[in-house]
Amino acid sequence: MHRAGLEAVQLRHKSQLTSEEYVKQEAWKSANLERCPLHPEGGCGIARHTPYARVEPPGMFIARSYCEKGHTTFSLLPDCLASRLSSTLPDMERVVDAVEQRESSVEAVAEKLRPDIEVQGAVRWARRRVMAAAIALLVLKGLQPDVLARVSPTMGGFRAALGVEAVLPALREMAGAQLASVPPYVGFGPHATGGKTGRRRRQQGKGADPP
Ligand SMILES: [Zn+2]
Repeated sequence: MHRAGLEAVQLRHKSQLTSEEYVKQEAWKSANLERCPLHPEGGCGIARHTPYARVEPPGMFIARSYCEKGHTTFSLLPDCLASRLSSTLPDMERVVDAVEQRESSVEAVAEKLRPDIEVQGAVRWARRRVMAAAIALLVLKGLQPDVLARVSPTMGGFRAALGVEAVLPALREMAGAQLASVPPYVGFGPHATGGKTGRRRRQQGKGADPP
């Protein structure tokens, strides 16, 4: 873990707002920790910290609290946003849906959705999202076997089984207290490292979170 500087811990700001609504309502102002996760007994001097600005979407800020005793910053990420990725969860879901439903190549989808960048970059952009979603679906199957054991680990499969429009925010809700062990961009845990050397490094995109 990053022990060199201040600890930063991501927590959930439970919110039904879309990212547009969140920005418009400046909803980060009402995101607040009732008690410090490290010191629920209180007395640690936890206080609101300056919110930080996300690159995407424009105008988005994330509420933060700082625990003096634990030297820890907590950021409160709303459910509409991906973690550690400059994207909303619904935008990410649209990419995964496009790949899933077309049954065509990631390359074709990537070129269509990101005509603004070169093909290789677009493919990496799409693949990061597809892989992160696939991992999240599998992890959730493991966490909720009673509900999901027989469900195919696809957006379509989960959407039908859960009866929701947006699968990824629903996964965040379902993960509950296990959210810290679900990899990004859905969960707040560490990246799944996988087996291949260097894979993790190559997969890291532009940071959406504060250093
Ligand atoms: Zn504290």
